[in-house]
Amino acid sequence: MQTSYDIIIVGGGMVGLTLACALAEQCTLSIAVLEAKLPTHDWQLSPYHHRVSAVALSSRRILESLEVWEAIAKKRVSPFTKIHVWDALNQADIHFDSTAIAEPCLGYIIENNLIQSALQERIKHYPHLTWMTPVELSSWCVNENHAQLTTSDGRVLTTRLAVAADGAQSWLRKEAGIEVDREDYAQGAIVAAVRTALPHERIARQVFLPTGPLAFLPLAEPTLSSIVWSLPSELAEMHRDSQVHEFKHALAQAFSHRLGEVVDVDKRYVFPLQRQQARHYVKPRVALVGDAAHTMHPLAGQGVNLGLLDAASLAEMIVEAHHQGRDFAAFANLRRYERWRRADNLALLGGVDGIKCLFASEKKSIQTLRSMGLTLTNRFNWIKNMFIRHAVGDRRGLPRIARDLPFLIRCVTHKISMKSH
Ligand SMILES: Cc1cc2nc3c(=O)[nH]c(=O)nc-3n(C[C@H](O)[C@H](O)[C@H](O)COP(=O)(O)OP(=O)(O)OC[C@H]3O[C@@H](n4cnc5c(N)ncnc54)[C@H](O)[C@@H]3O)c2cc1C
Repeated sequence: MQTSYDIIIVGGGMVGLTLACALAEQCTLSIAVLEAKLPTHDWQLSPYHHRVSAVALSSRRILESLEVWEAIAKKRVSPFTKIHVWDALNQADIHFDSTAIAEPCLGYIIENNLIQSALQERIKHYPHLTWMTPVELSSWCVNENHAQLTTSDGRVLTTRLAVAADGAQSWLRKEAGIEVDREDYAQGAIVAAVRTALPHERIARQVFLPTGPLAFLPLAEPTLSSIVWSLPSELAEMHRDSQVHEFKHALAQAFSHRLGEVVDVDKRYVFPLQRQQARHYVKPRVALVGDAAHTMHPLAGQGVNLGLLDAASLAEMIVEAHHQGRDFAAFANLRRYERWRRADNLALLGGVDGIKCLFASEKKSIQTLRSMGLTLTNRFNWIKNMFIRHAVGDRRGLPRIARDLPFLIRCVTHKISMKSH
C-alpha cells in the first residue's frame, strides 16, 4: 500500500470531502482522506435525517462545480425563497425575499448525510485519491520536508501537507499545537423534524426568544420542518427528555403558533453550542479547514457554508502554486490561505456573536434599540439586500468555484425567465 501522499486530509466530513474533490478535480497531486468512522447511516428517504444545513448559494456553486449537486438535488433538497425573523418581546420583524436579489431562492435545506454520501460517491472517480476508513491516528510529527502520521495499527504515512478537517474537537489541530479561543455559550440546540398543522410555504422562520433563537427550516414536504431550538443547556435537555405531547405544546407556544399546532415530532437530539476560533489556521505543513478552524452559533446557519469556502480557497491556493511550479506546501503559500479565510470567518463570527448578545440582552434600552434596528432595516431595501447578499454568499473575495455571474447579468436573465413564465 502507498504510504506517501502529496496531501493527507484528516476527516472525511462535508468539508474534508469537498476539499478532496476540489483538489482532485483540478490537479493530479496524490491525496489521501483519512476518516475515523465507517459510514454508518447512508442517506435514506425516510425518516428525514435530524442533521440538516441551510446551504447558501455559494455552497451550491461549489458543489455544482464538483459535479455533486445534481446527485444531491435528484434525491432531496428543499429550497427556501423567503426568510422571516422576529423578536418575541416586541414583535419587531424583518423579511427577506429572493426576488429582491433576482435569485430563484435564498438557499436550500439539505440533510448533512446526503451531502456527505454524494461527495463520497464522487471521490471514487479520482484514481489519485485514496479513501481510508476507519482510521485511528495515534501520533504526528513534522520536519522540514514532510509531516508524518502514524495509525494505531502501526501504519506510517508521510505527506507534504496535512489538512485538519476533523471537526470542532480536531485531533490534528491539538497534535500540531494550534490553540483555540473558545467561548462556551452554555446553550444546547435541540434538533428534530416536526410536522405542523399549517404549511411552511418555503419560508425559513426564526424567532428570538429571551432564552435563545428558535428556527423552523422548511423541508421538502409542505408541513414538515426541521427545528433548531437553542436554549440554556439544562432547559434543552429537559425539553429533549420531556413527554412528546408536552414538547409539542411547548414548541408551538414558543413559536407563537405561527405554523399552528405541532402535530408530530421525530426523535429529538441536543447539540452543545460553542464559539471557537483557532489562533492560527496554518503551521508549517498543516492547514485547518471547517469546524477544525472555527465554530459558531447556528443562528445564522453559516458553519458549513464557511467550511466549504475554506475548502475551495485552500484548493485554489494549492492548485495555483502547483501549476505555477511553486511549492504548494510552502509556509508562505499556506499563509496566503490563512489571511484570506481567517479575516472572512472572523467578520462573520463577530457579526453572529453580536446578534446573539443583542437578542439575549435584558436591558430595556438595548431591547428598544434592536426593535428600532429591525424595523428600520426592514424598511430600507438596500440595507436588507446587502445583508442577504452576504448571507447567500454573493460577495467579494470568494474562491473561483464559488463565484456567481455578475449581478446585472443575473437581473437581466431573471427578468427574462420571469416574463417567459
Ligand atoms: C445544531 C446545529 C445546526 C447547524 N446548522 C447549520 C446550518 O444550517 N448551516 C450551516 O452552514 N452550518 C450549520 N451548522 C454547522 C455545521 O454542522 C458544521 O459547520 C459542519 O458540520 C462542519 O463540517 P466539518 O466537515 O468541518 O466537520 P464535521 O462535520 O465535524 O466532520 C469531521 C469529520 O472528521 C472525522 N474525524 C474526527 N476526528 C477524526 C480523526 N482523529 N481522524 C480521522 N477522522 C476524524 C469525523 O468522523 C467526521 O467525519 C450547524 C451546527 C449545529 C450544531
